[in-house]
Amino acid sequence: MRINKDYHIHSKYSKNGHCKSEIESIVQKALSLGLDEIAISDHGVKHVLYGTNEKNLIKAKNEIIALNKKYEGINIKLGIEANLISFDGLTDITDIVAENCEVIQMGIHYGVIFRGIRGFFEFFLLNFLGRFISPIRRYMIKRNTDAMIKAMERYNIDIITHPGDKIPVDIERLSEKAAETNTILEINNSHKHLTKKEILMASKYAVSFIIGSDSHEYDQIGKFEDALNRIVEAGLSMDRVVNLEV
Ligand SMILES: [Zn+2]
Ligand SMILES: [Zn+2]
Repeated sequence: MRINKDYHIHSKYSKNGHCKSEIESIVQKALSLGLDEIAISDHGVKHVLYGTNEKNLIKAKNEIIALNKKYEGINIKLGIEANLISFDGLTDITDIVAENCEVIQMGIHYGVIFRGIRGFFEFFLLNFLGRFISPIRRYMIKRNTDAMIKAMERYNIDIITHPGDKIPVDIERLSEKAAETNTILEINNSHKHLTKKEILMASKYAVSFIIGSDSHEYDQIGKFEDALNRIVEAGLSMDRVVNLEV
């Protein structure tokens, strides 16, 4: 069994030294692991701490065009790990991002300025308080899930990264919408989501899964053992994981 594609690889274009990897070195590492295809997916442009920007996105794209010519046996794509930035389902998938990225991923991250005073308050404060107070948690699960569903309706999102991480969501409703919009759910090898329990819930819907290494270092590229353990524990059929080759 092997993983043949890894779409969740950060590079030096995630700013502030969040990741230092050069794209060419990532490609060489991926080739040495026998990966057929990778996507360089840095943090979205509205991530205050680690986001890439549109200028760097174009730089990365040009590098990728050159590297695709230079290296055989691997297909290199430009991706993004965009951010949800409002409860109306807005994200930082700008026109430039949508035009240039072949793999559009979206996830929840705290390093963004959430839109509007109410949005800011709910995203940061109520999600935090919800960890201790059940009625707030229930309210925020609905708000968070509605926001992600709206994002999937607004944008052409290929993959939701680490669903259920950072803030609580209703995995069943999310999966139902993901199935309807052909959005793949990630089983992230570095974060613990989807968890075994979440995989079990999601698999009731006609949704596909992908393992993402979420690598920030060369030696994490193509890593999938932790995600695979969760897949096996949940009894998920391997053919529903688009980058697993049995
Ligand atoms: Zn992430
Ligand atoms: Zn990531």
